[in-house]
Amino acid sequence: MRKRIVVKFGGTSLGSGERVRLAAKSVRREHEKGTQVIVTVSAMGHTTDELVAVAKVVSGGKISPHEMDDIMAMGERTSARVFAVALRSLGVKAKAVDPSSEEWPIITDSEFSRAKVDQKETAKRIKKYLLPMVERGIVPVICGFLGKDLKGNITTLGRGGSDITAFILGKFLKASEVIIVTDVEGVMTADVNEVRGAELLDSITATELRELGRFGAKVMHPRAMNYKIPEVDAKVIHFKHGDLSAKGTRITGGIVEGETTGIKLHDRPIGMITVVGEDMQQTPGILVKTIKPLSEKDVNILGVSIGPRSFSIYVWQDDLRKALELVHMKVKRDEVMKSVTSEKDLAMIVVESEKFIETPGMIATLTAPIAKAKINIVEILSSRASISFFVDWENRKRAFMLLKKRMEEVG
Ligand code: ADP
Ligand code: ASP
Ligand code: MG
Repeated sequence: MRKRIVVKFGGTSLGSGERVRLAAKSVRREHEKGTQVIVTVSAMGHTTDELVAVAKVVSGGKISPHEMDDIMAMGERTSARVFAVALRSLGVKAKAVDPSSEEWPIITDSEFSRAKVDQKETAKRIKKYLLPMVERGIVPVICGFLGKDLKGNITTLGRGGSDITAFILGKFLKASEVIIVTDVEGVMTADVNEVRGAELLDSITATELRELGRFGAKVMHPRAMNYKIPEVDAKVIHFKHGDLSAKGTRITGGIVEGETTGIKLHDRPIGMITVVGEDMQQTPGILVKTIKPLSEKDVNILGVSIGPRSFSIYVWQDDLRKALELVHMKVKRDEVMKSVTSEKDLAMIVVESEKFIETPGMIATLTAPIAKAKINIVEILSSRASISFFVDWENRKRAFMLLKKRMEEVG
C-alpha cells in the first residue's frame, strides 16, 4: 500500500507568498515519491484575528456567533484556494475543498464558534469523497478549522482548530502519519516565546500533549488529540526547513475512544496531613520545605490543597505515619507553621471529562446527589478536565455509584 500522509500548515507557515510556495514545494517532493498527500490549511498569518477585529467593529459588537463563523471562515477558505494554486503551478494536481463544495467532509453540530464533529457522518464523507480523490493522485487541500452543519451552515471548531481537522483526517483516512507544520521546531520544554533556553522534546505522548493544550499551550489544540489513534504516527515540525521529513517532535500513542470521559475509584485508602498557621500563605517556601523530606523518603504525594491558613497533603495511607513524622519535624522547627494534624481512611474518586472545561456549575451538578445521600465530601481538587473527590473510605462505593450515574446523565 502507498504511504499516505496528512499535512497541516499553520498560519505562520503560510504567512507570505514565499512561505506558501516553500510549503507547496515540500508537498510536491513527497507527492513525487508516490506518497498520497492530503493537505489542510489554517488562515494565512494573522488573518483570523484581523477578520474577528473587523467584524466586531463593523457590527458594533452586535454580531451573532453564526455571522462571526461565516466571516472567520474566509481566512481558511482563501488559504485553501491559494495553496491549491501554488501546488498546481508546481505541476501537482490539487483541489481546494471548501465547505461549499460537494466533497466537503467535516460535518458538525450547530454550535457556532465551538462546533463538535459528527464523527460518523464525517467518516462516511471522507471515504466517499476524499479517498477516491486521493487515489486518483489528486492532493486535496482542505480548509482547516471549519465545519458544516446538517443545514449547510458553516461552523468553526474553536480557535486553533485546524489541528483538530488534521487529526480527524488522519484517523478516518487511516493515514500513516499526520504532520503538523508550525513556527517552532516541535514541542519544547516550555514556550520558546516566553521562556529562555527551552529545549526540543524528542517525543511526547498524545495524552501529555492534550493536557499541555488544555492548560494553555497553543502548540496543539487539546481536542485534536482525541482523534490521535496509536495506528497513525504524528509529529510537529518547523516550516522553515521546507521539508516534511524534518525530525521535530514525535507524538506517540493515542487516545482510545471513551477515554475522554471516565471515572476511577482508587481502591486503596488515603491519608491526609494538614499543617496550620495564620501567615502561611504570605510566607514563601513553606510548601517546598515541608514536602522535600517526603520526596527524599520516597513518599508519593497524590494531591495538595492550599487554604488561607493551612495546606493539606494527600498520601497513601501506608505512608501516613512516616509522612506525618517527617512533616512534623519541619513544623516543630518553624515559626509560621504552628501545628500538624492528620486524617485517615479516605478514598479518592477521580472523574474526567472535557465538558468540565466549558460547562459552568459542573461541580455543583456532580455533588448534588452525594449531598442528598448525606455523604460528606472531605475535599475536592479540580484541574481543568478532571475533578478528584475525597470521601470517607466507608462511603466510597456509594459515592462512586452516585458520581458514575450523574456522569452518565450529563453525558
Ligand atoms: P500554528 O499557527 O502553526 O498553529 P500556533 O501559534 O497555534 O501555531 O502554535 C505554535 C506556538 O505554540 C509556538 O509559536 C509557541 O509560542 C507556542 N507554544 C506554547 N507552548 C509550547 C511548547 N511547549 N512547545 C512549543 N510551542 C509552544
Ligand atoms: N485560523 C484559525 C485560528 O486562528 C484556526 C487555526 O489557526 O488553527 O484560530
Ligand atoms: Mg495553532
